[in-house]
Amino acid sequence: MKIIHTISEMQIFAQNSHRSGLTIAAVPTMGFLHSGHISLIERANSEADLTIVSVFVNPTQFGPNEDLDRYPRDFKRDCEICEQHNVAVLFAPENTAMYSSDHSTWVTEEDLSRPLCGNSRPGHFRGVTTVVAKLFNAILPDVAVFGQKDAQQALVIRRMVRDLNFPVRIIIAPLIREDDGLAMSSRNRFLSADERSRALVISQTLLSLTPENLDAEVIKSKISSAGGTVDYVEILDAETLRPVHLETVEILVAVAAFFGKTRLIDNVILKP
Ligand code: AMP
Repeated sequence: MKIIHTISEMQIFAQNSHRSGLTIAAVPTMGFLHSGHISLIERANSEADLTIVSVFVNPTQFGPNEDLDRYPRDFKRDCEICEQHNVAVLFAPENTAMYSSDHSTWVTEEDLSRPLCGNSRPGHFRGVTTVVAKLFNAILPDVAVFGQKDAQQALVIRRMVRDLNFPVRIIIAPLIREDDGLAMSSRNRFLSADERSRALVISQTLLSLTPENLDAEVIKSKISSAGGTVDYVEILDAETLRPVHLETVEILVAVAAFFGKTRLIDNVILKP
């Protein structure tokens, strides 16, 4: 496995690969890899000749009072995991390589970015779309795999790719859970044992929903009763992130809640 730190080396590798007739699948991550990420890598392996995983904790998608400084990192372990799963290149650019001190160009998606995490994390999706556009320009992928764990992010990226004509096919892979239902996340490691067991209320509640018994207030009160602080519980059309209507094909139930200082997100898709 190759480890690449610079954008120019990444682009040259990608161009040479394309010239040799090889296709590239990108898996953008912030590292501290877990089985959710591995499922994306395996999907990428099945979709293209070469899988390129990026590990970059993108500062521009964190708000001023968020956890950028303490976001978990373990580059050595990430390398081992990628190596074990047939990743061709681990692309790990430095902050300074990604953002010049006078960086002043942003990609903003202005519809799907508004509700849910867009409300509670102003500027977050501007950071996400900008960094993903930059990663696509470095990795030059034919296909990129994102997780349903970040349902809104996946929709925003798909819209960006369509609107800006990126020649990249976007795949949204299923949300992977721990055996007890907790949605896998790099941030789970911040949970104390007590917080972790209380946080199970999120997945337990979401996984028990049926289209006939959807009530955001009931979900909120269950999470609060377990000691969580609800950021949002929203029931929306899964394609448009607007209120559910008669033609809604899939319903997204999305939750963000704090347990202790740790903000967790989770979601399920239901068919009406
Ligand atoms: P992150 O490293 O948290 O930025 O996530 C990188 C990619 O992995 C994103 O596309 C996430 O949606 C995806 N991902 C993270 N956790 C999971 C999970 N539990 N199941 C599936 N995909 C995930």
